[in-house]
Amino acid sequence: MPAPEVQRLSAALAAEQERFERTHPRAAAQRGSDSAMLGAVPMPWMMRWAGGFPVIASHAKGARLWDTDGHEYVDLCLGDTGAMAGHAPDPVVEAASERLAAGVTLMLPTEDAEIAAGELRRRFELPRWLFTLSATDANRTALRIARHATGRDKIVCFSYSYHGSVDETFAVADPDGATVARQGSVGPPVDVGVTTRAIEFNDAEALRAALAPGDVACVIAEPAMTNMGIILPVPGYHEELRRQTRAARTLLILDETHTFSAVPRGATGEWGLQPDMLTIGKAIAGGVAAGALGLSGDIADGILRDPRADLEDTGGVGGTLAGNALSAAAIRATLDRVLTEKAFERMIELAGRFTQGVQAVLDGNGLPWHVVQLGARAEYGFLPDPPPNGGTAAAGSDHQLEEYLHLFCLNRGVLITPFHNMALMSPATEAADVDRHTEVFAEACAQLAR
Ligand code: PMP
Repeated sequence: MPAPEVQRLSAALAAEQERFERTHPRAAAQRGSDSAMLGAVPMPWMMRWAGGFPVIASHAKGARLWDTDGHEYVDLCLGDTGAMAGHAPDPVVEAASERLAAGVTLMLPTEDAEIAAGELRRRFELPRWLFTLSATDANRTALRIARHATGRDKIVCFSYSYHGSVDETFAVADPDGATVARQGSVGPPVDVGVTTRAIEFNDAEALRAALAPGDVACVIAEPAMTNMGIILPVPGYHEELRRQTRAARTLLILDETHTFSAVPRGATGEWGLQPDMLTIGKAIAGGVAAGALGLSGDIADGILRDPRADLEDTGGVGGTLAGNALSAAAIRATLDRVLTEKAFERMIELAGRFTQGVQAVLDGNGLPWHVVQLGARAEYGFLPDPPPNGGTAAAGSDHQLEEYLHLFCLNRGVLITPFHNMALMSPATEAADVDRHTEVFAEACAQLAR
């Protein structure tokens, strides 16, 4: 960016910061308090909201959220997908309330769990499922099962992918292709180069080289990358990924936690992908903690029959509260009654409206950025073209610009996902909500161009 533009951006950001602090006294006081919480937030990543400290939520319903400073927001963050069903959807409130009153942690299956698993089976075409409390845990479990099933110890992941707090995946390929820890990785148990080969997405040659030694248990991938902007697979990449993994007898794990926003059957269903295992979490339980892992018939039979695999106790898989009755009831209600085919049709249409709105603003202001849609989700980025991989996307990020745009929106009642420029539609989102973003985004961009 030329120097005058940098100066203009810094000044505009300072003005937004001042406005934010002035209009959010309760949130500002919490930040400055002698809080009992680390960083004055329940989880340190909550410090990353634009403005340097988060608003304090009071309640949320549908696509709206209210804070303790009395502001109302159009919520396009939706808990970074955890609330893709909208906040507190009525069917989930009903089912979860009933379940809360009827007992949650029973250490026993409920009928809801079978029905929830049946719906996951129908949507994602994998025959067997187990439940976890989070997508992270579904991924950890999948990696363990993959290593056990193949007798191999390496995994392959993509540079700048994110699969939750999964040790093996905090890896990137450095410019020489070596696998190194992602910057800021806290206390990794071993050098990530021991567990992992990180490669760039959409690069069939790099994949071939990574699989060539024959020691890779699995490749873990999102069908499209969603945590460093939206990075779509180039035509033929998924066919190549499946062909090469099969040839190398390496398992393929697809993480649908975010790409579930593509369509009701996720990108896996939409694009006809054939993973050996599929992980998912966040949105499936309408805001209640839940994750799930789907297994192919071969993997499921193999692991259940193997006397060396202690899936039932301390084999490294599971957790006491996993598969609890509340999660199961919430998944059932969310999939059957909220995130339906019909709901997705509207959500996708609205994400299209968001994308067109943003593109028109970019064109109108001569800003050489891009915007990508994936089903109900859309995201803009500061490179002229959508990047082909995580490394390129990471190099093209601009924290100050992101901070300014997010804070500008927040100050005018629109929440965008922190960490990236993602907007997500829920069944409760309205065209007027999207248009409000377009309007505010246009104002923000015009101020920069002025
Ligand atoms: N997979 C993907 C693709 C994700 O984006 C995330 C979280 N952003 C996770 C897994 C982990 O989800 P959770 O933190 O809810 O366990």
